[in-house]
Amino acid sequence: MKRLKEISLGNWILIGMILGLIVGLVLNFYVTNTFIKDIILIDNVFYLGGNLFIKLMKMLVVPLVFCSIIVGVTSISDIRKLGTIGGRTIGIYLITTALAVTIALTIAGIIHPGAGLHMTGLADPSNVTTNVTLTNTILDMIPDNPINSLASGDMLPVIIFAILVGIILAKLREKTETINNVFNEGNKIMMEMTMIVMKFAPIGVFCLMAKTFATLGFDGLLPLSKYIICVLLGLVIQTFIVYPTLLVVFTRLSPIKFFKKFYSVMLFAFSSSTSNATIPINLEKLSELGVSQDISSFTIPLGATINMDGTAIMQGVAVMFAAQAYGMDLGMTALLTVIFTAVMASIGTAGVPSVGIITLNMVFASIGLPTDAIAIILGIDHILDMFRTAVNVTGDAICTIIVSFKNKSIDLDIFNGKKQPEIVL
Ligand code: ASP
Repeated sequence: MKRLKEISLGNWILIGMILGLIVGLVLNFYVTNTFIKDIILIDNVFYLGGNLFIKLMKMLVVPLVFCSIIVGVTSISDIRKLGTIGGRTIGIYLITTALAVTIALTIAGIIHPGAGLHMTGLADPSNVTTNVTLTNTILDMIPDNPINSLASGDMLPVIIFAILVGIILAKLREKTETINNVFNEGNKIMMEMTMIVMKFAPIGVFCLMAKTFATLGFDGLLPLSKYIICVLLGLVIQTFIVYPTLLVVFTRLSPIKFFKKFYSVMLFAFSSSTSNATIPINLEKLSELGVSQDISSFTIPLGATINMDGTAIMQGVAVMFAAQAYGMDLGMTALLTVIFTAVMASIGTAGVPSVGIITLNMVFASIGLPTDAIAIILGIDHILDMFRTAVNVTGDAICTIIVSFKNKSIDLDIFNGKKQPEIVL
């Protein structure tokens, strides 16, 4: 019993995930469809367990993001400093995403996942539509009605409004002390609630994994294996080569120490396929890594909303895949257009499951690729969504650490394990 208590929450999440995977696969392969398996286990027990947990996490997101951005911005207070942090953050987010698409295009250019595919008799892709454009994305950043944006959880307008409130609170200081305290205490309440909800993560992750793998057939995987390999290879390169290199070059901090603590956030993002619901645990973990909440409180929600390196990798590979299947030769201009639109699509992709495949339409449209090919990869997208979401949240954290380091807002002793952080999950 004492031994069990010593297992960290991160390891419990890992155990939940592996058990869920095993149970799901056993049900899928060895148990014939019965009332007990399909209705009771998959549609009720696993569905309920997994979605209860995701809903609890989602419940935290808006109030936590709102309070923590206000508290963070108020404590930075100097508008010019805030501008530098914001500029650096957005700059790194855009560059890493552009790099991610470039890697994807290169890999798919070498492996040729779409070569030899016959693009006839496809499913109807008309259910995949989008109205994401650059102008809409910019306009949508400003809330028509902040209360409405809060109520519907529209992250970008919520972030913008919270930043404005934070700037004004910093300016008015004593005159608004009461409201300032309200947000400070609100932030503490939400952090505490996050820690309580996270205790259920291993069970939630178990149920999510069991349900996914019990229902997911593997029939569709084989014909698309080259496509899947390209996407996974891109994700691996981004995670284990690009991010560690950036971390070492800009901060000289150890990527191993980072991954040792951060893996539970990746596991949660993987099982839930949503960057948004991962915000609370990402914030907690970064505190454990010594990052000041002044920075993470606003870079992480922003990243969960606009920085999707994993999604951009899938989109880059998908474009090459479709172009090869149609026998289209993409010239330099087309490739640069893809890089640009995939970065824009990353900004327009909400951090919830499967949105990346919807904004993929925008990337296809930018170079006149028929969207039929999206229908083929749609069937297997769920599993890739899991992997790419884990990469999306890792990119947000790496960028946050770099920005905090440059801003001297990271306690290096905590990062290096020489000092204990205040919050430990
Ligand atoms: N599920 C992804 C995320 O939440 C978005 C996507 O690519 O569909 O980060």
